[in-house]
Amino acid sequence: MKKIIGLDLGGTFIKIGVVDEKGKILSKKEIPTPQGKGRAQIIKVMAESIGNCMKNYPKKEFLGIGIGTPGLVDKNGKVFLAPNLPNWNNLNLKKIFEQKFSLPVKVDNDANAITWGEYKFGAGKNYDNIICITLGTGVGGGVVLNGELLRGAKYSAVEIGHMPICYAGPKCKCGNIGCIEQYVGAKYIVDMAKKKLKVRKSLILEIVYGKIDKITPKIISEAYNRGDKLAKEVWIEVGVYLGTLLSGLVNLLNPQVIVIGGGVAQVGEILFSTIKKTIDERSFSLLAKDVKVVPAQLGKDTGIISCASLVLQ
Ligand SMILES: [Zn+2]
Repeated sequence: MKKIIGLDLGGTFIKIGVVDEKGKILSKKEIPTPQGKGRAQIIKVMAESIGNCMKNYPKKEFLGIGIGTPGLVDKNGKVFLAPNLPNWNNLNLKKIFEQKFSLPVKVDNDANAITWGEYKFGAGKNYDNIICITLGTGVGGGVVLNGELLRGAKYSAVEIGHMPICYAGPKCKCGNIGCIEQYVGAKYIVDMAKKKLKVRKSLILEIVYGKIDKITPKIISEAYNRGDKLAKEVWIEVGVYLGTLLSGLVNLLNPQVIVIGGGVAQVGEILFSTIKKTIDERSFSLLAKDVKVVPAQLGKDTGIISCASLVLQ
């Protein structure tokens, strides 16, 4: 079976592995992303790690290299708008690595990569129209429509976290107000719980021994799983916010499945069922009735598998 290299470039770690055509990991490695040494050093470490991965198999077995990077990527594989890595703007990663390795290289941003990975190998693999959302510190995602990633005029479509769900609401770091991230990003879920805790009792406080700064979405999940009412209310509220956003997207895009991943989604059924219920209540019933809301499937190796999947476009 042919092989693909998947490289997931993050601000802290480079995760790299060899994946087969069916999305199975054959080998993997995690390398710290060089800090404070500029972009040439990061590219050097990426190239070395790709070279090391290729040593173990004949070169003719490789279909290509898939790279996921922070920032936006244009259709030529050039990165733009990448504020978190040094001098990363206007860098044509595709060209650099194609010249180095004489293999096809696909480059995309991490949110599109995860969406494509779930579409090829994960929870979206039996469908042609999917919305994928990742819930963590921020809210990211992508859309596959009729078997293709939704791109837009500047290859910048689907900034899901910055879709406003309220014409007023809190200010977001993007400059807008009322973005969904301001309601369901990890910090805001914690704030929601803290606000309720001011006037009510909850297991959440017992779990953190009264240390309010230690509250995380994971702690709120734990409290929910132990039957805590306040924690349940938090998750229902998060589900309604997300369901409200997604009911608009269901009307707009007519997806077959909505795949939700990321740390915050680990709370499970309560979140998924509330989102589905809200979509059923708010979207056109013809569109809503067949939409499935399901957890992402690629698990802890999602970065490597997803980046490798980019080659299969
Ligand atoms: Zn925003």
